[in-house]
Amino acid sequence: MSVTFHVPNAPRYSNTEPCLCAQGAPSFMTSNIPDELREHAWDECPHCHGTGIETVERTQQGFELNLCNGNARLLLALLRLDDECLYGSASLPDVRRAIMFAKNTDRSGFTRDATVGRAVARQCDDGTAFIAPNVFVGGFSADDLEDRLARLEEVVDNAQAFGASEITWG
Ligand SMILES: [Zn+2]
Repeated sequence: MSVTFHVPNAPRYSNTEPCLCAQGAPSFMTSNIPDELREHAWDECPHCHGTGIETVERTQQGFELNLCNGNARLLLALLRLDDECLYGSASLPDVRRAIMFAKNTDRSGFTRDATVGRAVARQCDDGTAFIAPNVFVGGFSADDLEDRLARLEEVVDNAQAFGASEITWG
């Protein structure tokens, strides 16, 4: 799960990308050879119609910032924006003030180390084994925090130049 800080009605563009139904193709996400993608695509795929290549709408770079839920909660807390609910909005001046405040705050309490929760196997009543997946939680270092603050500031700058009045997240 993730949270995206977003500029409402931000400029978008169409992009052609390999469809996930063709991820069995050896060239998937590397060289993306069209014939190979088509060969591995699902004939009835509603996204690519069996071609292995789909057209998707993307938000123009610099108009959104995506973080995993845990890191978004830390960033929202640092910004003193509502971090209880991971959905919200704020005016551009309020976000700009929040960023300025965050830049002048001791940020040591808003980082976290990366952790790995190892899988634990247990035997079920019917004799089968249940193995929970490993859980990897990425860290959020002081440098990461600095980077996300700078990128959020870029989103606010672009939003203002675009004529938007607020940032939303969720
Ligand atoms: Zn497809």
